[in-house]
Amino acid sequence: MRTAVFSTRAYDRLYLEAANKAAGHELAFYKESLGAATAALAAGFPAVCVFVNDRLDAAALALLARGGTRLLALRCAGYNNVDRHAAAAHNLTVVRVPAYSPHAVAEHTVALILALNRHLHRAYNRVREGNFALEGLIGFDLHGKTAGTVGTGQIGRLVGRILRGFGCRWLAADPQPHPEVTAAGGEYVPLPQLLAESDVISLHCPLLPETHHLINADAIARMKPGAMLINTSRGALVDTRAVIAGLKSRRIGSLGLDVYEEEEGVFFRDHSNEVMEDDTLARLLTFPNVIITGHQGFFTHEALTAIATTTLANITAFEQGRVSGNELPPP
Ligand code: NAD
Repeated sequence: MRTAVFSTRAYDRLYLEAANKAAGHELAFYKESLGAATAALAAGFPAVCVFVNDRLDAAALALLARGGTRLLALRCAGYNNVDRHAAAAHNLTVVRVPAYSPHAVAEHTVALILALNRHLHRAYNRVREGNFALEGLIGFDLHGKTAGTVGTGQIGRLVGRILRGFGCRWLAADPQPHPEVTAAGGEYVPLPQLLAESDVISLHCPLLPETHHLINADAIARMKPGAMLINTSRGALVDTRAVIAGLKSRRIGSLGLDVYEEEEGVFFRDHSNEVMEDDTLARLLTFPNVIITGHQGFFTHEALTAIATTTLANITAFEQGRVSGNELPPP
């Protein structure tokens, strides 16, 4: 099927072309993000393939539908960037990759926790400059600490189980409890209790209207002083300005982000020769107890292979009039 692939980076092309040897679709790669301003590039393509920061709002979807597009293939799990009502109104089918490698994101989450706790980002720079002093690098044993996962889907459950392996007490909050959590020694508690008792809080719920700014000034005020906050889910789960205030007041002891609410147009690109326009992001980067990675939780060989294979299988199923099972539920 003729498919316009947006937000293409070299690695996307590598993995999609490898998987397409078996699938046989006609892929056209564009570096541009998809949005109302670029939707014209997709004119005449029955399928478009997009990623996390492509903006599929009502205006973009209307233009795509007018250009003959019938399928939106997301090469990601989250779909908060799609106006599902507008997609339904234009009879656009939206498919996604619900699970590629939850291990990739869970392991990156734990990497952030360990690096922040033992100050690896600072130790790395010090040692390279011949500074072997340890002042300022004191961490804590994870063993015996309390870790809270907000969301116990595929990724949250893996993170909880890994942290149980370190000897942590595991608290979990999720409106849909999963039996695996209690079987693995986790304990479901209301969110305020999780915030109050956790030494490490990690977010693994989707971005929905009801989870937007789930971590706001009120939630931060409930946290245990000095708690570590990790977000590898979606940026807007966190009110970044409130988090900066929490870091300044020392209520938040350290912060690990793989996602940022204003990441669109910034992440996945090299801006190292430019003046940083975003004062909030610039402020975050000044804290010694903050590590930010640029939405790389998913970025493993296994995950990229699975994303490419499932995305192309989703397109094949649509072309053949079959249900892949990866269609978004009705809005
Ligand atoms: P999932 O659908 O398996 O699990 C999400 C869980 O969140 C579900 O159990 C759901 O009941 C729960 N939930 C919903 N509302 C909640 C709330 N208000 N409070 C607590 N829990 C709530 O999803 P997953 O595969 O585990 O992925 C989690 C998130 O990770 C995704 O939504 C996506 O945004 C993000 N993600 C990030 C990357 C990355 O590269 N950083 C990659 C993949 C996914």
